[in-house]
Order: sequence, then C-alpha cells, then structure tokens
Amino acid sequence: MDQNVKYIFVTGGVSSSLGKGIISSSLAKLLQARGFSVTIQKLDPYINIDPGTLNPYEHGECYVTDDGAETDLDLGHYERFSNTPTSQANNVTTGRIYQNVINKERRGEYLGTTVQVIPHITDEIKRSVRLLGQTGKYDFVITEIGGTVGDIESFPFVETVRQMKWELENRCVVIHLTLVPYLRAAGELKSKPTQHSVKKLLEQGVQPDIIVCRTEKPLYEGIKHKIAQFCNIRPSSVIESLDAETIYDVPLMMLEEKLDVEVLKKTNTPIPEKVDLDNWKRFLNNLKNPKYEVNIGLVGKYIELKDAYKSINEAFVHGGAMNQTKVNIRRIQSENITADNARELLKGLDGILVAPGFGNRGIEGKIEAIRYARENKIPFLGICLGMQCAVIEFSRNVLHLKGAHSTEMDPDTPYPVIDIMENQKKIKNLGGTMRLGAYNCKLNRESKSYAAYGKEMIRERHRHRYEFNNAYRDAFEKNGVRLAGINPEEDLVEIIEIKDHPWFIGVQFHPEYRSTVKQPHPLFVHFVKAALEHKGKK
Ligand code: GLN
Repeated sequence: MDQNVKYIFVTGGVSSSLGKGIISSSLAKLLQARGFSVTIQKLDPYINIDPGTLNPYEHGECYVTDDGAETDLDLGHYERFSNTPTSQANNVTTGRIYQNVINKERRGEYLGTTVQVIPHITDEIKRSVRLLGQTGKYDFVITEIGGTVGDIESFPFVETVRQMKWELENRCVVIHLTLVPYLRAAGELKSKPTQHSVKKLLEQGVQPDIIVCRTEKPLYEGIKHKIAQFCNIRPSSVIESLDAETIYDVPLMMLEEKLDVEVLKKTNTPIPEKVDLDNWKRFLNNLKNPKYEVNIGLVGKYIELKDAYKSINEAFVHGGAMNQTKVNIRRIQSENITADNARELLKGLDGILVAPGFGNRGIEGKIEAIRYARENKIPFLGICLGMQCAVIEFSRNVLHLKGAHSTEMDPDTPYPVIDIMENQKKIKNLGGTMRLGAYNCKLNRESKSYAAYGKEMIRERHRHRYEFNNAYRDAFEKNGVRLAGINPEEDLVEIIEIKDHPWFIGVQFHPEYRSTVKQPHPLFVHFVKAALEHKGKK
C-alpha cells in the first residue's frame, strides 16, 4: 500500500518560529521540481481539535481547505508553494488524536485492553501519518511536527517518529531545524544551542539525519564541522538556512545547499538531474524587479498581528508579481475609522480591502472605509465580513434603510440585510460548524468577476454563518448592484459588484486561500490591476 512511500519528518529545536513550515514547503517544491509527488502534513501538539475556535491573536489566521477543514496557517504555505490542495488529513492535533482514540475506546474497539499513550496514542499518530501515504498519490509525505523538541506535549509525536524511523528504515528521514545565533559581542556564531537541542532529540531516541541551521550570518566550514561532529552526522548534512529577503527565496537557497539531494540520498532514491523551477524563477524575477508600485489599505481589526491576514498578504505578493507591481500594504485599524477622519486615514490609497472577521468590534469603521471607497471610486475588495459590510453600507447610504445591519451584530435590526443561514439556526456547538470549504458559484457573464476568472463556474472556499438576505435582492439590483455570483445549489448570493464603479467587488468566500505562486488568484491579480489604473488616473 505505502511500501514505496518515503516519510520525511521535520522537527524544530532551540526556538519556535524558525520557519519549519517554509523549510517543509521548500523541500516539497524541490522534490516536485525533480518530478516527485509530495504532500505536507502538520501535526500540532495543542489540545484544540482544530484551530477553528482559536482567536487570531493566539494562532494567526485559520486556513481553510477545499474539504472544509479549519487548519493551521502553515497549510497555506504548503499550498502556495506546492500548488497541491491539502485536506483534513494534512493537519492533525493532539486533540483530534485523543478524540479518535477515545471514540474507538467507547466503541469497544480496544477489546478490554488498557488504553495508553504508548502504544494507542502513538499508533493513532502513526495511522494519521501513513493515511496520506496510503492514498497512493504521493512519493513523499513530509510531516512537520509543531512546537519545539523538549515540550511536554510533543513527546508522543517524537516517540512516534522514533518508532517509524525504526520500522521504515531508509524510507524515513528526520530533519531537525535549529537556530545558530550570532553573538555580536563575541563576533561569533554559536553552535551550542543546536548541540543541546539535538541532545534533547537523542534523549527521546531520535537521531536526526539532516540538521538545518537557521542563521543570520553564513555558516563557516568550521562550525558546520563542529555541528556535524557533535551531532553524529556528516558535514554535508548540515544545511545552512540564511535569513531570506522573501520566503519565496528559500527553495532556491535549499537547492543551493542541496537539501533535496541529501534527502534523496538518505532514502536511496535515484536523483533525477532535471530540476524544473523555471516558473518559480520567473515569479521571483517579477517579484524582485517590479516596474510599478501601488498602495493598498488593509482594513481589519487584527492589524497588529501580521499573521492574522497571512493568506491575504501572500495573495497580494502573487497578484502583484503578476502585474510586475510592488504592493505596499498599509494596515489600518478599523476601530479608528470614523466618518470624519476616513478621508485623512485613507488618503493616498490606490485600493481598499476590507478583511474577514467576526463580531462587532470595528464594524462601523469598516463601513466608513467602504463608503469612502464607493463614493471616491477607489478599487475595493471586500472579503466575507468585508462583503457583508459592503451590503450594510449600501443599504444604509444608498437604499436609505436606516439601521440596516447583520443580525450577527444587531439581532433586532429593522433591516436584516445580512442574516443567519437557515441551516445555521439550530447549531449550538461553535467548533467546525460554519459553512466551510469549497462551494460552486456561477458568475454573471457581464460581471467584472467573470472578466477576472474567464469562466462561468468557479469553486471557492467559505467560512461563515451569515449570508446576504435574499429578501433584499430586488432592491439591490434596481439600485445599481450586480449580483455577480450565485451558488446554484442553494441560491445564495456569493458576489456583489457596484456597476457604476471602476472596480468594487464583495465576495462571501475567501479567494485568498486559493492563491498560489503557480496560480495567482484572478481577483487579486485584477484588483492590483484596477489599483494601478486608479493610480494612473490620479
Ligand atoms: N462573521 C461573518 C459570518 O460568520 C463573516 C465571517 C468571515 O468573515 N469569515 O458570516
């Protein structure tokens, strides 16, 4: 079943945030470029079943897959780099592992045995990893283990790696990512934290095969040898990962450092000579040599936190490169925007994006930003809550429906232009119960959205409970709004456009999740284009 599949584990030591996700994604990209099929999985040691119930302040953006899994934002990197969709199986938390084991216990599947961390939890982790291999779709399964070795909660995961390494022999490779700090006062790079972190892994019975060293200065030969010697590996298996100008440089840096070759050698895989990265290099070239520049305002309430809108930022990188344009994103706290200061706060922008979100905080500011974009004909993209706010703004200021609102914010509004979906009304649990994942949308051929996508039927990912209230469709259409996209199965409004505006689009779905280096999202490409045109007119 999976006897030819190779399993790569990526663990982290010394510190969190070293970029395991980017290293895993870059390795996947390189293996793909050599002709292999690859998937990447993230094992998260926390107890939440999924990050869907986590506040962005806790965990950054929640990324949504086609099959409606609410996942860690690293899966976004996996898709953006590899252009391969991920699924529920690609993100597994401790919570889900325990839930599966406890459900089996309740069903009596353990036949009277005592259920324990070893072997039952570790077996369940193993099953989750091999499940991907057993699909028959991949030559390599890369599994990133969240957290840092030595954390209490990652023990069962590291123990699983130990067992799998033993069982799979040379079909299993462990890559350990560490930090090699530069001490300015001493003028030296320091290898000791790496040695300690490898010792931690060894205490748990795992010998890493490859050590990737994150560093702000190039590693000199001496330090590579030292790390190799203390950590029982060859110097060629010590890989330098220098701080990069952009995350999209990392695959080429890893190619240079031969990370892919090391992995292929260690798994006894013949090394194909051709590495097809032409597309990637073209993208990088556009990214690094922009001809134009635009300023886009990102209006949201989590602006202090860069990771909260990760996929939106990256979609602008892809859409910008496609237009040979550098997109400067100005993050604007929606709570601060009022009717009086909107002009001041939003001046100089060539486009305004109102972000997704939940709850009342900052809503009125989002509505004011939209009014400003609509009245001043500034290109506008509203995503999910951003689209809903555009509907509220239009209702209040054009249709003169005073007090129009979403029933999420004001359950007693006289004009519930955004309302809870019928099948959401009876739901009590918050985890995993929204309208999630990919749904069809049929585009109006006259629309700007159709011009961007170039086709009539699209599929986009969702994460919401509220929806455009169909009772107001007529009023909108009669007053200059085009209902540009409709979900045919349930007759839900998915896209609104204002006809008498250069580019004003609100989408109920999340286009940002589907933007990749290989396929930049058409709405972002066209939004940047509209921003460029707006700038040209100024
Ligand atoms: N809070 C809104 C809803 O649930 C929008 C959600 C979002 O922006 N992802 O419908």
